[in-house]
Amino acid sequence: MTAKTVVNARTIAILGAGPAASTLAILLARAGKRVALFHKPKAAPLIVGESLVPAIIPMLQQLGVEDEVRAYSMLKPGATFNLSDEVHFTFFFKTLTGRTARYAYNVPRDRFDDTLLNAAKRAGAAVFEITAGVERVGTSDRVQLSAETLAATGDFFGGQPDWIIDATGRVRLLPNLLGISSSEGRRKDVALFAHVDKTVIEHEGHVHTTRLDHGWSWRIPLPGRVSLGMVLGHEHAQRFGATKEERYDNLLQQDSVLRTVAGGAKRITPVMEYTNYQLVSSRSVGENWALVGDTAGFIDPVFSSGLFLGMNGAFLLADAMLKGTPDAMKHYEREVIHHLATWHEIVDYFYNGRLFTCFKVGQMLRDTLLVKLTFPHMNKHLGRIFSGAASTSPYSVGLLRFAMKYGLKDENPAQLAIR
Ligand SMILES: Cc1cc2nc3c(=O)[nH]c(=O)nc-3n(C[C@H](O)[C@H](O)[C@H](O)COP(=O)(O)OP(=O)(O)OC[C@H]3O[C@@H](n4cnc5c(N)ncnc54)[C@H](O)[C@@H]3O)c2cc1C
Repeated sequence: MTAKTVVNARTIAILGAGPAASTLAILLARAGKRVALFHKPKAAPLIVGESLVPAIIPMLQQLGVEDEVRAYSMLKPGATFNLSDEVHFTFFFKTLTGRTARYAYNVPRDRFDDTLLNAAKRAGAAVFEITAGVERVGTSDRVQLSAETLAATGDFFGGQPDWIIDATGRVRLLPNLLGISSSEGRRKDVALFAHVDKTVIEHEGHVHTTRLDHGWSWRIPLPGRVSLGMVLGHEHAQRFGATKEERYDNLLQQDSVLRTVAGGAKRITPVMEYTNYQLVSSRSVGENWALVGDTAGFIDPVFSSGLFLGMNGAFLLADAMLKGTPDAMKHYEREVIHHLATWHEIVDYFYNGRLFTCFKVGQMLRDTLLVKLTFPHMNKHLGRIFSGAASTSPYSVGLLRFAMKYGLKDENPAQLAIR
């Protein structure tokens, strides 16, 4: 990659039209680049990833779509966690401090994705409704659109585009084509996901995360329905039936916790099943290509960080491409990998039980002087990490690490670990 190739990038093909792709298209088209998105219409009846974190709100504002999103979404004032009968936490975003939004939304994803795609069109990006094909140029690190894909664009780019950005999500078109290595997380869980008519909701609009007999579950209230997902070990899930629908419906009735919060729920959509959702590409930038969103990497969904990471990545990539230097592109790659690693660590603290053991200890000792002095400060920084506002702040993340190491007193974190 030379400085010249990036600085002169005039034409850009973005593969995919999910939130990361559309965000990037809006920013580059606004900056005067000639941008086209390749949109493979979605076959699935549902799209997973419906709960946003507050740090997305300023991005929606910059993209000019917040009013539209608000109109069809559910306001999300916070998050509620039930780890056991005794360990129960509710977090209200209104207590967040610093420069961040104090609310978020739960969004029907088909509408959210349409909103962003339409905003990209309004910003001047072209959209081709086809499945994009790419190929490697000889044995180099360069890629190009396949002849068929290029032909479908007419002469939009006036030849091959200068840059190709892979935003195909878990399809990971370029990493697969180029053999880019990736690292996977330790957990090999499966997620079962559908919409139901209703469940117990303790706090209106909150995403509810509940520890199950095995695994954990989310309940995301949406207008007129609830998104209910379960994340559990693959082998354990198999015990509940031969099909994903059987597994989902049986788990609802047979898991002792789900029975309590959603035993009477009626499923109103087919069930979607996801496997393998902790994966990070070792490279995000090449000679004339870059990866953004889930293609660059994704982590476990427990803290609803996926869309934030993907859209934040699109902002960083747009910035790097507009600066146009190899250093800026390398910086983008480092930032993405570092941010994913940080969230990976945060998610690990949920699974190994340390996070909520620390909160439990804080509550147990809340009348002591030490906790009275330190807890507000700690809470402030942890809240800002989970809202996304400070998940790249070395100080806040350092404080979290300190708390996870020294803040458990004599409690055994395994008691709150996800089984
Ligand atoms: C079980 C689970 C629960 C989750 N829950 C949440 C949550 O609550 N909150 C949250 O923020 N995130 C959540 N996520 C993560 C979130 O879904 C993703 O991070 C997010 O959708 C990634 O956006 P993206 O734009 O990178 O990719 P995607 O949204 O996957 O978009 C990629 C697009 O590219 C298209 N495409 C693929 N191949 C081609 C091709 N060859 N040509 C053209 N188009 C192509 C696809 O059809 C798709 O439309 C969850 C993920 C999982 C697995």
